[in-house]
Amino acid sequence: MSQVVYVNGEYVAAEDAKISVFDRGFLMADAVYEVTSVLGGKLIDFEGHVTRLQRSLSELQMMAPVSMDELLEIHRQIIARNNIDEGGVYLQVTRGADVARDFVWPDPEVVKGGIVLFGFEKPLVNAKVLEEGISVISQPDERWGRRDIKTTQLLYPSFAKMQAKQQGAGDAWFVEEGYVTEGTANNAYIVKDGVIITRQLTNDILHGITRAAILRFASEAQMKVEERPFTIEEAQSADEAFVTSATGFAQPVIKIDGVDIGTGKPGPISVRLREIYTEEMRKTAV
Ligand code: PLP
Repeated sequence: MSQVVYVNGEYVAAEDAKISVFDRGFLMADAVYEVTSVLGGKLIDFEGHVTRLQRSLSELQMMAPVSMDELLEIHRQIIARNNIDEGGVYLQVTRGADVARDFVWPDPEVVKGGIVLFGFEKPLVNAKVLEEGISVISQPDERWGRRDIKTTQLLYPSFAKMQAKQQGAGDAWFVEEGYVTEGTANNAYIVKDGVIITRQLTNDILHGITRAAILRFASEAQMKVEERPFTIEEAQSADEAFVTSATGFAQPVIKIDGVDIGTGKPGPISVRLREIYTEEMRKTAV
């Protein structure tokens, strides 16, 4: 059976889905997105993702093409129609298809935004690579300056991920002015003497929904958290490192630029946070 996707008001088979060649998401990456994980057929931290979507839209003066309640219903339909138990739902909102290609934004009352959703199956809980950890390489952060807005301009992160892959690593950590910003599609952390260190929230990084939950659970478990920048050298001499994202939860990082972190195996704090996150998210999934 073919995959069912949602495109501008309709549920259609993926091979029948159509988008205008004038859609600004396609022409200019003039689009924002969210990825919400699914556990046991339910959405994890949906409210967090919807709240961030609203913020991304408002920062770019875009209108939501459907209400937030409708959005939940569409997510649920995508899960049900594709029979997804574990994986995620991808959502993209674009500024829509203008009559021509123009740098000037069209009037949102005239040109309605576009919306696309599709689902995917992916092992999240018992995924070997998520539990065993990955190695990362450092790469200069050459993305635009508004990384707090979750746009579909993903060519540079994709380029950096390929650099990592070609060097036998799992991912890249971006470095700007000597300090780590984040991973290609995750937030970055180190642990030293029991203290969890991660960059503070500014426009330099995406405000991860998983990050917010992990820091909350860490504080509730009496773990110490410091929100400040750190260098690759500091990370290499840390006891542990890890990354967080909606589809990776908390994933250990065991090597940075060829240097083993701690014992070179997933550290206890990252492993514990992964367990807590999975348990708690199962409880609150909708
Ligand atoms: N940072 C970047 C650049 C990302 O692309 C992502 C997720 O795609 C994250 C961080 C993690 O965000 P979240 O936890 O909301 O998935």
